[in-house]
Amino acid sequence: MTTPSMEDYIEQIYMLIEEKGYARVSDIAEALAVHPSSVTKMVQKLDKDEYLIYEKYRGLILTPKGKKIGKRLVYRHELLEQFLRIIGVDEEKIYDDVEGIEHHLSWNSIDRIGDLVQFFEENDERSVQLKAIQKKNEQTNQES
Ligand code: CA
Repeated sequence: MTTPSMEDYIEQIYMLIEEKGYARVSDIAEALAVHPSSVTKMVQKLDKDEYLIYEKYRGLILTPKGKKIGKRLVYRHELLEQFLRIIGVDEEKIYDDVEGIEHHLSWNSIDRIGDLVQFFEENDERSVQLKAIQKKNEQTNQES
């Protein structure tokens, strides 16, 4: 796994606070599979950049700026999972693939993918048609 980015930290902190009401350094470290000292370092940087307020013995809270971006990052992750699921990616590959692409897409691409997800959700027939194409391609690949 590559080193988690600043966005991964904000996303994770936002999710922890949503789920548990707080985010401890040890929980963040575990979730991102990094050493607690790396978390402390990043948290101090995020504090300096005004994404959160960190007090060593009292934990951390997100500022309005941190909350806003956290919410968008979690939305982006969930949208991309939904997108890969709709286009038929194997369930066990979805999480890692989203982790691999999420930081590389512009918000423009994210919004357009959002449109596409909506396009499929508004009419089940569209998913059925896509599956038919995939089945046909599978058969062609087996024949060649
Ligand atoms: Ca993510």
